[in-house]
Amino acid sequence: MRRIGVIGGTFDPIHHGHLLLGRFALEKIFLDKVLFIPAADPPLKQGTCAPAEERWAMVELAVAGCADFAASRLELDRPGKSYTVETLRLLHQLYPHAALFFIIGADNIAQLDAWHALEGIFAQCTVVVGARLGEVAGSDPELLARLHCIETPLIELSSTEIRTRRAAGLPIRYMVPEAVEAHILAKGLYAAPCS
Ligand code: ATP
Repeated sequence: MRRIGVIGGTFDPIHHGHLLLGRFALEKIFLDKVLFIPAADPPLKQGTCAPAEERWAMVELAVAGCADFAASRLELDRPGKSYTVETLRLLHQLYPHAALFFIIGADNIAQLDAWHALEGIFAQCTVVVGARLGEVAGSDPELLARLHCIETPLIELSSTEIRTRRAAGLPIRYMVPEAVEAHILAKGLYAAPCS
């Protein structure tokens, strides 16, 4: 049986925090592949900054040439809110013999209660949390017991910080893969603050 990791997000833009989360998950829980799935319309966020096709292009550039990473358009190609429960259902159809591992960063634990159809998500996958030892300490113990925590280095990096730096004219080198940086600069993405 294949073991497939899934990282969903707005990837606005994708950065090394996302990619290292995928890399460590791959190694620590022995995954065959990690899919990066950009959300079309994220249920818990106030929209996105870069257009969907630009976010997709950056995810594709970030995973290019990495055999155990792939980008998936599953959420971009369907209308409406990008609910994880539906994404997992579609993945089970695509990979009927695979075990699914939905991977999130520790910052996302606090939001889990607000997720649409949380029980449906738990029924379809193992929810894996990448965190530094002790980072999840304040979380609800009942919820924590249902999560599979893996220790990953803490990369203090967010898409918000990258967008803010770009809008301030500061470099983003080393925060994103070089091909992603080149795409952002060539397309003028994030040059102005998002509305
Ligand atoms: P934003 O700053 O726009 O809110 P973000 O950097 O948090 O974006 P998302 O696309 O929202 O990125 O995150 C997708 C997933 O990656 C989430 O599960 C999030 O917890 C995780 N993640 C984001 N940044 C990191 C990081 N630096 N280390 C580990 N996980 C991360």
